[in-house]
Amino acid sequence: VVDVRGLRKSFGSHEVLRGVDLQVRAGEVTVVLGPSGSGKSTLLRSINHLEKVDAGYVRIDDELIGYRQVGDRLHELRERDVLRQRARIGFVFQQFNLFPHLTVVENLVEAPVSVLGRPRDEARELALALLDRVGLREKADAYPRRLSGGQQQRVAIARALALEPKVLLFDEPTSALDPELVGEVLDVVKDLARSGTTMIVVTHEIGFAREVADIVVFMDGGQILEQGPPAEVLDDPQHPRTQAFLSKVL
Ligand code: ATP
Ligand code: MG
Repeated sequence: VVDVRGLRKSFGSHEVLRGVDLQVRAGEVTVVLGPSGSGKSTLLRSINHLEKVDAGYVRIDDELIGYRQVGDRLHELRERDVLRQRARIGFVFQQFNLFPHLTVVENLVEAPVSVLGRPRDEARELALALLDRVGLREKADAYPRRLSGGQQQRVAIARALALEPKVLLFDEPTSALDPELVGEVLDVVKDLARSGTTMIVVTHEIGFAREVADIVVFMDGGQILEQGPPAEVLDDPQHPRTQAFLSKVL
């Protein structure tokens, strides 16, 4: 589903992604680990074209993200077409980023109507079903500020799902939460994993990675140093920097 090849990205003279290759198959969960500043967020942001990369490309379901290929040349897509592509790449941030002036259900209805042109009543029906799925149907008409952090993050996940994404990207979805709220959010992500949602999850929750990941990727210094099933990367890491990282976080 997701095919990332040779991604490079610099900010000024600092090369933050130094040739990243990553393939994620349909229905698989990839967990990305790595120290602060290793380029994890930049990688996710590049996948949905929030960052424009210097080299390499991202393909999702054989569709090039951000570009159109003509012969052997790449032309940048118009903003409108990028938005349409981005709508199908769900992104859940550390800070939930809900629209504060919209109710919970309106948060879920907004993008399907405005970006994908779905009829409003249809979008609302799907929104309520998704709220049910994350256990928040009864909060449909509440405003985000009335919800706990864990509940807001579950709404943010439902909002991403409302666009029927081909893949869901999570950037440390639980690291802004009080410890007692982490579990309810991870439970939602686990439920999605069981039902075959394709996901890339940046997290420091090693227990979660062990339980849910099909593939664990370890990044450092803008490169993927090691990847494989959790039993290999977490329990028998080969690269010294993976070993050093895990000995600190476990
Ligand atoms: P963390 O675990 O702290 O979230 P990360 O692995 O997500 O770290 P990134 O946020 O991808 O790391 O950042 C990688 C490097 O790129 C850092 O050194 C960061 O300072 C730098 N960086 C990221 N975004 C920008 C930007 N917009 N302008 C300049 N430098 C940036
Ligand atoms: Mg980050």
